[in-house]
Amino acid sequence: LFERVSARLKAQVGPDVFASWFGRLKLHSVSKSVVRLSVPTTFLKSWINNRYLDLITSIFQQEDAEILKVEILVRSATRSTRPGLQEDAPQANRSDVATPASSRRSAPQTLAHHAAATVGNLQKLQPVAGPLFGSPLDSRYTFESFVEGSSNRVALAAAKTIAEAGAGAVRFNPLFIHSTVGLGKTHLLQAIATAAIQSARAPRVVYLTAEYFMWRFATAIRDNDALSLKETLRNIDLLVIDDMQFLQGKSIQHEFCHLLNMLLDSAKQVVVAADRAPWELESLDPRVRSRLQGGVAIEMEGPDYEMRLEILKRRLEVARLDDASLDIPANILSHVARNITASGRELEGAFNQLLFRLSFEPQLSIERVDELLGHLVNAGEPRRVRIEDIQRVVAKHYNVSRQELVSNRRTRVIVKPRQIAMYLAKTLTPRSFPEIGRRFGGRDHTTVLHAVRKIEDLITGDTKLSHEIELLKRLINE
Ligand code: ADP
Ligand code: MG
Repeated sequence: LFERVSARLKAQVGPDVFASWFGRLKLHSVSKSVVRLSVPTTFLKSWINNRYLDLITSIFQQEDAEILKVEILVRSATRSTRPGLQEDAPQANRSDVATPASSRRSAPQTLAHHAAATVGNLQKLQPVAGPLFGSPLDSRYTFESFVEGSSNRVALAAAKTIAEAGAGAVRFNPLFIHSTVGLGKTHLLQAIATAAIQSARAPRVVYLTAEYFMWRFATAIRDNDALSLKETLRNIDLLVIDDMQFLQGKSIQHEFCHLLNMLLDSAKQVVVAADRAPWELESLDPRVRSRLQGGVAIEMEGPDYEMRLEILKRRLEVARLDDASLDIPANILSHVARNITASGRELEGAFNQLLFRLSFEPQLSIERVDELLGHLVNAGEPRRVRIEDIQRVVAKHYNVSRQELVSNRRTRVIVKPRQIAMYLAKTLTPRSFPEIGRRFGGRDHTTVLHAVRKIEDLITGDTKLSHEIELLKRLINE
């Protein structure tokens, strides 16, 4: 029953919303007329209660007319300190790990984590004791544990500068970090917040996800408390907002816009992360978008082999601090680093899975590792297409050279293949417009945008062209 309801719920709200809010919803119990579901945090409970309880109840009733009521409970948070264990592993203790820890936060990160929000040093402003905003920062997400590589060097440098800068010493404002999922945005943002809070200056720091912001404002408005919330936020030095792509709702965006303007105009630092560049956040209020574009946007890319290996090694070190008997043979670590290429999240899943397996299969062979982790190889990026491959295939097809494709030449024979290649780069890879522009001989992102729109327009009226593009896609995927 629960599975059917889940599936229908997912169909109704869409996979993204479902993953964000319901990924960790579990069935607790069913009596004749009451269904009890559980979630890991009170935050999730109130969010679901406020926004989705009616929908969930009606779906249950459609499946089973006897059901009168659905209740949401909070699972007791027996949090294990051992790195890599599921946060909500059912009463997990060391000796009876029941669930492979690898399922933890595998692809789209679930809400309890998204919702982590912290206000550092706000107590100073708020005589009322107690955290104003939910759960604390994840203590594992620090600069020390963040592995540097060519794909994130610029973002890391900017992040450190901000964390170290004194209040008012605003360097890149707002700093906007973007990448596809699992490449370390949340880690980096939390590292900024943690380092800033711990610094001698002790600036007033707020870290929250866009979803948390929405929820907090919604409740404040409902409870006629919006003024004091705004007053609090007005007095911070550093605002760190994660997963900006989730900011929705007209009035909330309006509030956010105010806050952003106010902070930026008074030279307070703002750091934002999202899964795409600011100019690609189509659902965002244009004023917010333009304010976000006024600072520095930095894209992070996937980790290379060295970085992946380093991430795994550091993770092992941390795990061994907790339990020195844990180990993963070096050949297995490098094998995993070589093969699991999608993102930090898949690596983390692989790592947890291995640690768990090795505890009762100490002689794990490479073949067995492949068998266990096969689903993580290229996970999240089923078509891992490279821009070079696109350029090569398109150049060959139109009988031009790759150099010409990325050159400044503007003759028709080259312009069209170039536009098609850019269009394919945008549709087949997660790369942003500016990144594609860079890879096409340092073109501006508006040129790429223009090319993509142009080809999109042409395809609709031109079946020959659309077949040609389908053919190119097949060739590229070969
Ligand atoms: P995002 O927010 O971009 O989706 P996360 O910050 O949640 O990604 O990263 C996913 C996982 O990968 C986290 O466990 C994170 O610690 C790890 N990770 C990603 N990049 C790095 C890195 N450069 N160094 C260390 N760990 C990383
Ligand atoms: Mg994240």
